[in-house]
Amino acid sequence: MKKRCTAIVLAAGGGRRMNSTVAKQFMLLGGKPLLWYSLQAVEQSEIIDDCILVTGKEAVPYVKKEIVEKYGFGKVDSVVPGGRERWESVANAISVLGATDRAVPNRDGYVFIHDGARPFLTEEILGRTYEAVQKYHACVAAVPTKDTIKLANEEGIALSTPDRRLLWSVQTPQVFDTELIVKAYGALHEKAEREGFGAVTVTDDASVVEVFTDCPVKLTEGSYENIKITTPEDMKIAEMFLKKSVDIPFSFC
Ligand code: C5P
Repeated sequence: MKKRCTAIVLAAGGGRRMNSTVAKQFMLLGGKPLLWYSLQAVEQSEIIDDCILVTGKEAVPYVKKEIVEKYGFGKVDSVVPGGRERWESVANAISVLGATDRAVPNRDGYVFIHDGARPFLTEEILGRTYEAVQKYHACVAAVPTKDTIKLANEEGIALSTPDRRLLWSVQTPQVFDTELIVKAYGALHEKAEREGFGAVTVTDDASVVEVFTDCPVKLTEGSYENIKITTPEDMKIAEMFLKKSVDIPFSFC
């Protein structure tokens, strides 16, 4: 029997690098809020069964009405407030995964954690990560790095240049066995309580699994179009990708 697949879509970031008065997740792309695109991919997916959406505490009522209800995203069964850092937002969503008031609690299925700021999530990417998680228990979408990457000190002096053939840009979805990610985030939360929340510097979920479990994380083919909208120029690139995907069917006419 197919195991329960829950998407956690993250949209609680401050979007400071976007320099916009409108929160990044609600900025319009092709006439729709940015967040609409990942929720639409989840809604149409044959793999994903349900979705927990994370947004800023004050935005919860707005998101329920103006995004979830307005566009009919029936798979979204919980809208939860995020935290100060991305990992805290993920932890909040993970804490409701197995809640008894969810239509079907997810205690032993799979969890797909996705940045709502990545609008070009496709069923192909979901499919590849779904296949990999069944085999490896933990996987992330990633692409080979195109740039040469340098490690520098705080003064901006280059210290070393890792071999580019071994470097990957990591994306989302990041997909895990439910039990594994619950355990990893539980351990991270304990560390934060013990050492202070400022001591936690993780920026993705795979690194939580790497540090707190002995499960290796498999890199799975993502896509160079699966970009994260961070700064204003990313919006221009996204508009180009969108135009291309709309234009393609007409080229067959
Ligand atoms: O900050 P960053 O670009 O890494 O954010 C990636 C994703 O995590 C975005 O979709 C953002 O909305 C989300 N996020 C969040 N809660 C935070 C920070 C970021 O849900 N506190």
